Amino acid sequence: MGGRNGLSSPCLPRLPFLLFLLLLSVAVLTVAASENENKGSSLSASEAEAAVSRFREYLRINTSQPDPDYDAAVRFLRAQADDLGLESDVLEFVSGKPLLLLRWVGRIPSLPALLLNSHTDVVPTEPLKWAHPPFSAALDPATGNLYARGSQDMKCVGLQYLEAIRRLRAAGFAPDRTIYLSFVPDEEIGGNDGAGRLAASEKFQEMKVGVELDEGLASPGEEYRVFYGERSPWWLVIKARGAPGHGAKLYDGSAMENLMKSVEAVRRFRAAQFDLVKAGMKAEGEVVSVNLVYLKAGTPSPTGFVMNLQPSEAEVGLDIRVPPNANTEALERRIAEEWAPSSRNLTFEFKHKVSVHDMFGKPAITPADNSNPWWMLLEEAVKKANGKLGKPEIFPASTDARFFRERGIPAFGFSPMANTPILLHDHNEFLNKHEYLKGIEIYESIIKAFASYKGDAKDEESRAEL
Ligand SMILES: [Zn+2]
Repeated sequence: MGGRNGLSSPCLPRLPFLLFLLLLSVAVLTVAASENENKGSSLSASEAEAAVSRFREYLRINTSQPDPDYDAAVRFLRAQADDLGLESDVLEFVSGKPLLLLRWVGRIPSLPALLLNSHTDVVPTEPLKWAHPPFSAALDPATGNLYARGSQDMKCVGLQYLEAIRRLRAAGFAPDRTIYLSFVPDEEIGGNDGAGRLAASEKFQEMKVGVELDEGLASPGEEYRVFYGERSPWWLVIKARGAPGHGAKLYDGSAMENLMKSVEAVRRFRAAQFDLVKAGMKAEGEVVSVNLVYLKAGTPSPTGFVMNLQPSEAEVGLDIRVPPNANTEALERRIAEEWAPSSRNLTFEFKHKVSVHDMFGKPAITPADNSNPWWMLLEEAVKKANGKLGKPEIFPASTDARFFRERGIPAFGFSPMANTPILLHDHNEFLNKHEYLKGIEIYESIIKAFASYKGDAKDEESRAEL
């Protein structure tokens, strides 16, 4: 402004004007540079920098299984919550496994609450196979890629929720419904002691959760991926028995031969399912996947295995993943009659078997169409923030969302990472900082839409009357 005032000075008309032009061009260039830096983000350069540095701080906390530093994570997150003025509570359903629950009370507490869930643990790493130490949160200045275990799965989402809330609070937004944020332990080892305990707790009943958001997957394309259900793990062990015999003798019904016949049947089924995916007829999450995870047989000797003896027992372990709308009766029949028939001296046992149904006997899926107002709100909110959702999918593996869907609560798996290779559980997991920042705005839009929606109030009243 000083330069502009100088324009009116009759004594030095040219120099201040030139100075003004110079300052103006510097200003224009600076704005252009910072816009470029934020790729059209509505976050200022300093806001963006602070958000990225908080993300890196969280990424540096080593919460990898099997010995996660949960206390450090909770300390860090609680400090963030204090800073934002959110209520916080540490629940320890299992000793040494703290779960941090944050709350932003809504203006109409009778409305069902919104739950934003994320897990604090990450999978182990092989540091020597990484280009940067996995807990250094190294930022490549050339690309903006942030390398760290948990950068995709799913510390990004946990902090994006908090950053979105930071912006909403700064803008004076007041939610109608109460917003909870849960930072849960142990997802990577099954989630039973984390989200599982929370969902089954009395505390959860009190929270009156009406909708839940959880993790999704990165998308290499422009569209964000979104998940409305997931496959249920069935971990199956098939055991074969047969007459033992000399290694030189040909005879029918040995344990190994019995088992191999099963393995062949399993492989045929696997190939047929896989063909549907390869032909583009079904998505990965829509078919039953079966993979052989172990084979156990043979008679041990001090130097390995006895080579001239056909053993009397053999077993195989299978990891089966079943989509929520699969015909489970047909699959069970297939297992009993084709994969492990007693007529061939085979038995089977499930080591772990999650039902594809919720507590009410319905397929555990959240409708992702116009029949579900939460879906419409989600789609609209993402669009408003200049993002695009892909076709809703079944998550190929398991997430904590299942504990909530099991209770009939609508839940979507969504991690806003487009233009990003899927590197969860992989070496050199990274997220570009611009994608991260863009995700904050996406959540800002979603949280705003969900927390302002009052359409389910009537449903709740009528449910209460029942
Ligand atoms: Zn995860």
